[in-house]
Amino acid sequence: MAKYIFITGGVVSSLGKGMASAAIGSLLQARGYKVRMRKMDPYLNIDPGTMSPYQHGEVFVTEDGAETDLDLGHYERFTGVPCHRTDSISGGKIYYNVLMKERHGEYLGATVQAIPHVTDEIKHFIESALTDEDFVLYEIGGTVGDIEGTLFLEAVRQFAITVGRNNCLFLHLTLLPYIPTAGELKTKPTQHSVKKLLETGIQPDILLCRSQLMLSDSERRKIGLFCNINPQNVIIALDADSIYKIPLQYHDEGLDRQILKHFGMLENAPDPNLEKWQKIVHTINAWEHETTIGVVGKYCGLPDAYKSLNEALFHAGIAHKTKVNIKWIESDTLETMTEEQINTVFHGIHGILVPGGFGQRGIEGKMIAEHYARTRKIPFFGICLGMQTAVIEASRNLLGIKDANSTEFTEDCTPVVALMTQWEQDGRKQVRTKQNDMGGTMRLGAYPCQLKQGSLAAKLYDNADVIYERHRHRYEVDIKIAKRLEEKGMIISGLSPDKMLPEIIELQDHPFYIGVQFHPEFKSRAFEAHPLFKGFIAAALKQTKLI
Ligand code: GLN
Repeated sequence: MAKYIFITGGVVSSLGKGMASAAIGSLLQARGYKVRMRKMDPYLNIDPGTMSPYQHGEVFVTEDGAETDLDLGHYERFTGVPCHRTDSISGGKIYYNVLMKERHGEYLGATVQAIPHVTDEIKHFIESALTDEDFVLYEIGGTVGDIEGTLFLEAVRQFAITVGRNNCLFLHLTLLPYIPTAGELKTKPTQHSVKKLLETGIQPDILLCRSQLMLSDSERRKIGLFCNINPQNVIIALDADSIYKIPLQYHDEGLDRQILKHFGMLENAPDPNLEKWQKIVHTINAWEHETTIGVVGKYCGLPDAYKSLNEALFHAGIAHKTKVNIKWIESDTLETMTEEQINTVFHGIHGILVPGGFGQRGIEGKMIAEHYARTRKIPFFGICLGMQTAVIEASRNLLGIKDANSTEFTEDCTPVVALMTQWEQDGRKQVRTKQNDMGGTMRLGAYPCQLKQGSLAAKLYDNADVIYERHRHRYEVDIKIAKRLEEKGMIISGLSPDKMLPEIIELQDHPFYIGVQFHPEFKSRAFEAHPLFKGFIAAALKQTKLI
C-alpha cells in the first residue's frame, strides 16, 4: 500500500508549499521510490482555467489537457513525472460532483451534507486513480484556518483513521519571522498555526519552518515541546537563492530521513542518488556565460504569470552553462514609443520572446517587437499568441494585408487568425462556437505535430517526424495565409496531421525566428531542457558575441 503524505501550510500564504512538496517528492524519488504528486485547492472555481493570471499566476496544462494550478508545474519539473487530470481537484469540483450526484438521485433520498457527503467526495479523490506508487503526496492549498479548507482537513483527518495513522504523514509548512529589533526568530506564529491545525484533529508529524536564519537547538526543542513534535522533526527551510538548491538543502537538514523514519522505512531505504541535483547546483554556482532575453508580455509585473516560461529559459541556460537574464517589457508601453526609444529598450537584448496571452491589450506592441526581431535578425521565439501576432505582423508587412488581424481582437479585419470551430482529437471531431462556456473548452493538452524535414524546428527536435506538445488556445492561424507567407520566406515547419493547422512557423533567412502554436514551456525539465528553448538560448548566445 502507498504511504500518504499531506502537506499543509500555516502562518501566511506564499511560503512556497508547492515548491516544498516538489522538493520532497524529488528526494523520495532520488531514493528509488515511485512518487505521485497531487493538489487539492479549496477554492470554488471548478479549475483555475478561467482565473486571471494576476489572481492565481499561470494556468498549468497537463498532457491530458487539464487546466491546473501552477504547483503541478513544480511537481513535473522536479520529479519528471507527468501529472494527470486526476491529480488536481478544487473545492468547486468537489461540490459540483456532489450536486450532480444529488440531481441523479445517487444519495437515495438522504439529506446531502458537508459531512459525510462532501468529505466522502474528497476522500474518494484521495484514493482514486492510484496505481503502484510508493508515496503519494497531497498538497492542500490555502492556509490552515481558511474557512474553505476546513472540509479538506476534516476529510484527510478521517482518511488517516481509515488507512491507519502510521500510513500517513502530516507535514506542516510554517514561517519563523525574524524581528530585527529583537534580533530574534519568532516561534509564536508557528505555535499558533499548529494549535489551529490541532483544532481540526490533525497533529503534524513534521514541521518545515521557513526562516532567514538557522535555528538554535534550544529553539528547536522549544518548538517541538509546544507543538508535540520530536525536535528532530522540526526542519528548518532556509531561504534559498535558487529553487533548484532546495532538495539538497532539505536533505542536509535530514528531511527525507525523518520522513522515512516516521514510516518505519529508514532501515531498509536505499541511499539517495542526488548527483543530478548536485550537478545543477554546481552549474548555477559557476555560470560560464550570460545572455539577456527580452520577454514582451502583458503580465510582466507578476512573474508567477509566466512561471513555466521562466523556468524553461532557466533550464535552457543550465544546458548551456549560461545565466539567462530576463528583461520584462510590458508590450503596450512599446506602442507609444518613438523608434529611438524602442531601440533603447531592446539595446543589450540578445533574444526576444513573445509569450502566450489573451485579449487585445498590448498586441500591437507585440507586433512592434516581432517586426524589430524579424528585420534586425534578432533571435525570436513566439509562443501561442506570440506566433499568432508574428503571423499578423508578417501578413501586414510582407503580404501587404494592412488590416490583417485575429478575430479575437476585431471582426472588422482580414482574419489571418480566427476562432477554431472544428478540430480532431484522438480521431474524434471537436466542435466549438463563440457561445460555448469559457471553462475547459479550448484546444487543450497534447496534440501531435508533424515536422517538416530540413527545417530548423526539425533539426532542434533531432529530426523527429512527429512531436507532441501541449496546447491552450481558441484561435488558430489560417492555413491559406500561412501558405501564402511561405513564398515570402516564412515557412510552415510544423503541421497538424490533417494538414489543416499550422503549428510551427519559421523564417528562412534569419538566424532564429520561430513561432509555435503550442506551449513548449510546460514540458521543459531542469534535467532536460526543452529543445526549442535550448536552440533559442544557443542563438541568443551567438548574438551576445555579435553585439
Ligand atoms: N488568445 C489566443 C487564443 O486563444 C492565444 C492563447 C495563448 O497564447 N495561450 O488562441
